[in-house]
Amino acid sequence: MQAFILLGAPGSGKGTVSAGLTKVSDLLHVSTGDMLRAALKAGTPVGLGAKKFIENGELVPDEVIIRLVEDHLDKVGEARFLFDGFPRTDVQAQMFDEALAKRDAAVNHVFLLDVPESVLVDRLSGRRICRSCGAVFHVRNIPPKVDGVCDHCGGELYQRPDDDGETVRNRLSVYRSQTQSLIDYYDQRGVLICVNATDRADTEQTILDAL
Ligand code: AMP
Repeated sequence: MQAFILLGAPGSGKGTVSAGLTKVSDLLHVSTGDMLRAALKAGTPVGLGAKKFIENGELVPDEVIIRLVEDHLDKVGEARFLFDGFPRTDVQAQMFDEALAKRDAAVNHVFLLDVPESVLVDRLSGRRICRSCGAVFHVRNIPPKVDGVCDHCGGELYQRPDDDGETVRNRLSVYRSQTQSLIDYYDQRGVLICVNATDRADTEQTILDAL
């Protein structure tokens, strides 16, 4: 088992870069945000318990997240995992190290996607997602051909409730207050690689070269 982590603020492109990387490599993408949204949609106890945290742009409790991740590791077994949006706190990072050690593995590399804050706010507040196929658009940067309609499947485009202006600012401040120490944590272990992530293609190539 190998574990790679994409670290970066909301809007730094973790989801998009992961999708690009999984197409051209054997990496398996694991997004705790996607897992929680799926759990919420399915109405499971984990999803319902996470609802108010997600809607307020706050972090879901560490124990819930680590359980979700460990269950996933056990279900999938031997693989090269690319984590996106996890770990988000020191406690999650420590619990993750222990979970990997139990499986004779360790974090291989952590890629820190570096993007200026003004770009982050613009990307998030303009983001629109297809309800049917999950394709991502942006009102100005990647506009759909027809307003509110997915180019790929004709599905309805929506704004994630936590992508509205105020929640975006809250998510960025949560990121700053809780994630800086994670950066230090992985830097001290010598596994951190900082990537200038303003351009998506360059970002993917830098990561592929380092794998
Ligand atoms: P994301 O799609 O990664 O931006 O996550 C959306 C929301 O899910 C976050 O704002 C949190 O409420 C929750 N979430 C996702 N991953 C984690 C995590 N590792 N720890 C705590 N909360 C999380």
